[in-house]
Amino acid sequence: MIQIKDIIFKYKDAEVLKNINVDIKEGESIALIGPNGSGKSTFLKLLNGIIFATKGKYYFNSEEIDKKKMENSNFSKLFHKKVGFVFQNSDAQLFCSNVYDEIAFGPRQMGMDDKEVDRRVCDCLRLLDIEDLKDREPYNLSGGEKKRVAIAAVLALNPEVLILDEPMNAIDPKGKKFLRELMIKLNNSGKTIICSTHDFEYVQGIFKRVLVFAEDHSIIRDDDYDIVINDNSFLIENNIK
Ligand code: ADP
Ligand code: MG
Repeated sequence: MIQIKDIIFKYKDAEVLKNINVDIKEGESIALIGPNGSGKSTFLKLLNGIIFATKGKYYFNSEEIDKKKMENSNFSKLFHKKVGFVFQNSDAQLFCSNVYDEIAFGPRQMGMDDKEVDRRVCDCLRLLDIEDLKDREPYNLSGGEKKRVAIAAVLALNPEVLILDEPMNAIDPKGKKFLRELMIKLNNSGKTIICSTHDFEYVQGIFKRVLVFAEDHSIIRDDDYDIVINDNSFLIENNIK
């Protein structure tokens, strides 16, 4: 489904992704781990077509994703319908005056009729257990509530791939358990999950595979999640634990 071939990404002269090669199949659940600044968020932005490789290629369902294609609004709409991205900072994602409109935004952009929009919004409100927030202003919600609204807004388009950047950050334990259950449920229903995290306690059982980013911005290990997470000396050596 996703192929990343020899990708290098630079901000000005600084190389922040180095020789990245990754293949991801439909239905996988993959964690991205690594020290701060190792390139996890940059990699996720690249997968989501927000930034583009300085060198190398990104294919989604065998189609190359590049700047030129993403500048075509029909193409990028279709792409964003398939690949949903939950930002690390919910404030960067939420901009509507109430929760209902926030979740309805994507479906409306896709030109769905009011009935279909309403059906999707109600489904997602229920799935995230935020029905009582539907008339609230996103801006005034707690961090955990904002995260749920942001996820609902992304799921309203029923994407094939769900990309999340540190979703457990600044969420209370109950919220983390809820998110964990949700991610497992979504993956079991066939969605591909790609998620950066450094919260190993609350993500147990979500991921089958892990990509480990190193301080030199390369991927140093691509392996079974449970094996890596129990390899204490490896995690300590690489400034992950
Ligand atoms: P991580 O998510 O693993 O903490 P990031 O992908 O956010 O790492 O950052 C990787 C590197 O890219 C860091 O060195 C960071 O300082 C740099 N970086 C991130 N965003 C920008 C930007 N907009 N301009 C310049 N450098 C950036
Ligand atoms: Mg990050």
